[in-house]
Amino acid sequence: MKLTTHEIAQVINAQNDYTQLPDVPLHKIEFDSRLIEAGDLFLPLQGARDGHDFISTAFEKGAQLTFSEKTVPEPHLLVEDNLKAFQKLAKYYLEKTKVPVIAVTGSNGKTTTKDMIASVLAQDFMTYKTQGNHNNEIGLPYTILHMPEATEKLVLEMGMDHPGDIDFLSQLAQPELAVITLIGEAHLEFMGSRENIAKGKMGITAGLHGELIAPADPIINAYIPENQKITRFGVSGEELYLTKLIEHKDRLTFETNFLNTEITIPVPGKYNATNAMLAAYVGQHYGISEAKIKSALENVNLTRNRTEWKKAKNGADLLSDVYNANPTAMRLILETFQSIPKNEKGRKIAVLADMLELGPTAPELHKGLLDTLDFTKLDRVYLYGPLMKNLADSATDQPVSYFSSLPDLEKALLEEIEPQDQVLFKGSNSMKLSAIVDKLV
Ligand code: ATP
Ligand code: MG
Repeated sequence: MKLTTHEIAQVINAQNDYTQLPDVPLHKIEFDSRLIEAGDLFLPLQGARDGHDFISTAFEKGAQLTFSEKTVPEPHLLVEDNLKAFQKLAKYYLEKTKVPVIAVTGSNGKTTTKDMIASVLAQDFMTYKTQGNHNNEIGLPYTILHMPEATEKLVLEMGMDHPGDIDFLSQLAQPELAVITLIGEAHLEFMGSRENIAKGKMGITAGLHGELIAPADPIINAYIPENQKITRFGVSGEELYLTKLIEHKDRLTFETNFLNTEITIPVPGKYNATNAMLAAYVGQHYGISEAKIKSALENVNLTRNRTEWKKAKNGADLLSDVYNANPTAMRLILETFQSIPKNEKGRKIAVLADMLELGPTAPELHKGLLDTLDFTKLDRVYLYGPLMKNLADSATDQPVSYFSSLPDLEKALLEEIEPQDQVLFKGSNSMKLSAIVDKLV
C-alpha cells in the first residue's frame, strides 16, 4: 500500500494517540481476517458478525494495525466509523498516486465491459481493474487500495442498489472517463422507475472530470450536467454505432463507425458487441492502435463468461446464461438464441425462469416477453417460477410447458432433451437453473 501508520492516522483523523505506534509502512488492508498476512492493516466491518470480534484473530495472523471503533488492546487507530475511514483512505490514495480512473456503470454489462476495457488498455498501460464483481461501497475502495504500485490506469466497476450509490462511488473515485452501458430495468424493486434508474446511473457524473460515454437513450437527457462532454452510442446516426454485426454460435463479428477494422470476439450475445465497441472507443480515446484494440478484444479474458455454450452428456448444446436476468438481458439473449440456425434434425428449446427484484411491475414484465418469443424459431419453451406463470398463462396456444417446481422441471428436461437439440437457459441466479445445467452436463 505504501502508506505508513502515521500517514493513515492523519488521513482518517484517528482519535487516539497514535504517535506511540511505530510509523511503518502497512502491507495491505483486509476486512476478512482469513486473508490477513504479516504486516497488514485489519478493517473490522459489520457483517453477519461484528468485525471487531475478529481483531485478535487478525493479529494472530500477523496484522500490524487495525482500525477500531472502540478502544482495544491491539495497536489500533480509533475512528467513529471504520467503513467511512476506509473509504476516505481510498480516496486519499487515489489523489496521492494520481492514477487515472475509468468508471463503468449500467444496468447490465458492467463486468464484461470493465474486463474488455482493461484488456484493451493493458496493451499500452499497466492496468488494474475491479476484481470480479466487487463494485460497491466496500469493493470499490478495496480495489483502489489493492492496485499494484506501477498501475497507470484503473478501471472500476460501479454498482447500484439504491439511489445515490453511484454518486458516492464517483465522488470517491473521481473518474476521468465514464461509461454507462445501459439504462435497463434491473433493480426496479429498489429504484422504483426507469427514470430513477437513469438518475441513479447518471450519478456517475458527480465526480467525473472528463468525457461520459452513454447510450443514446433520451431518458438520461434530464440528468446531463451543464457542460458535460458526452459521447452517445446507439443506432446509426449516433456518434458511436455498429456498422456490421454477424452472430455465430459461439462468437460474433462486428465493425464500428469509428474503427477501420473488423473484430471477432470469442463470446456470443449481441450485447457483447456493444460492450466491445465501448471498450474499443475507450482504447482509441487513450491512443491505442486499431491493431492492438483488435487483438485485445479477440483474445479477451472475461472474469466469468456469463453466456456460455456447454455440451450436455447426451450431446445437446446448452446455452447457459443463468447468472442474472432482467427483461432487457432476457430479450437480448432470446433474440441471439432465436437467430442461431438449428442443428440438423435438432430442436430449439428455451428454458426460462423468473427474473427477480423487479418490483410491482414484475408480472407485466414477464408477460411482456411474449412479444420477444418467436415460435417460428423455437420448438418448445419451458417456463419455471411464480412470475413466469404470468407468461405461461398468456401463451396458451403455444408449445409452452409450465413448471412450479424445480425437480419437476429437471425431470422433464432430463427426459425430453435430445442429442441434436439446442437449449437456452436463462433466469435469475437464485432460481437455480444452473443446477439443472450442471446435471445435464
Ligand atoms: P452485475 O449487476 O451482476 O454486476 P453486470 O452489469 O456486471 O452485472 P455482466 O456480468 O457483465 O453485467 O453481464 C451479466 C448479463 O447481462 C450477461 O450475461 C448478459 O445476459 C447481460 N448483458 C451483458 N451486457 C449487456 C448489455 N450491454 N446490454 C444488455 N444486457 C447485457
Ligand atoms: Mg458486475
